[in-house]
Amino acid sequence: MVIVRTIDALQEAKNALSGSVGFVPTMGALHKGHLSLIQQARKENEHLIVSIFVNPTQFLEGEDLDAYPRKEAADTRICELSGVDILFMPTVDAMYEKDELHIGAPAIRGYILEGEKRPGHFDGMLQVVMKLLNLSGANNAYFGKKDAQQLALITQMVKNYFMDVKIIPCSIVRDEKGLALSSRNIYLNGEEKERALSLSRSLKRATKMVMAGELNVEVIKKEMLIVLEETDEVEYVAIVDREFNALDVVEIGNTMILVAAWVGKPRLIDNMWI
Ligand code: AMP
Repeated sequence: MVIVRTIDALQEAKNALSGSVGFVPTMGALHKGHLSLIQQARKENEHLIVSIFVNPTQFLEGEDLDAYPRKEAADTRICELSGVDILFMPTVDAMYEKDELHIGAPAIRGYILEGEKRPGHFDGMLQVVMKLLNLSGANNAYFGKKDAQQLALITQMVKNYFMDVKIIPCSIVRDEKGLALSSRNIYLNGEEKERALSLSRSLKRATKMVMAGELNVEVIKKEMLIVLEETDEVEYVAIVDREFNALDVVEIGNTMILVAAWVGKPRLIDNMWI
């Protein structure tokens, strides 16, 4: 595995590769969720590039940019053991210049749910993902369904800008109790971790209701909010179709149930596709 930190070094390392390239962009503090993307990409491509970059432009004022967990040594070891060919860990200066042009999230889909609660987040996310996809020159890029709206917006960006890369959605990885893995889970103490389970519990409750024939979105959301009372604050519960249009009635095979809530320090998100 080669570790590269500059654009030139990345281009040089890439030139040494021939054959299909898979790419997994991350912000590091790697866990089994990231690992599942890396393993899938490893299997499906001849070469594998992973990036670790805590992207400042997707953090809003007052968010945890400085405190975001950084674990370079452990992450490097994980990548090495996972058969990564190139680990790209650029500096902020390598990625940005002062007076940049900007691409922006779409006016509707980019400004509901996560986009409404974190205005500007998706602009910064798309900006860096565009750069990273272009730099990697990957054939296939892997993203988790955990960040469902992010995945949808990246897929749309690739479509709208005619980018030559295939976006591969990957399943959510959870711990044995059901908590969706996240780098921010390290902020949770024992008691908070227990309460954080209410996110996945609310989604399981919703799924059970649907399986029992309850398709009314308002009825399901009401039940979910009862389960979510264990969190400190619910930001949203949404039931939408796969294009993020609001639904009154669950459409089996075309529905996502999404939740965002605060538990202790971190803001947690989770979702289930039905
Ligand atoms: P991050 O480092 O949080 O930016 O995440 C990098 C990639 O890993 C994104 O595509 C995430 O959606 C994905 N990811 C993060 N957590 C999980 C998880 N628990 N299961 C599956 N994918 C995940």
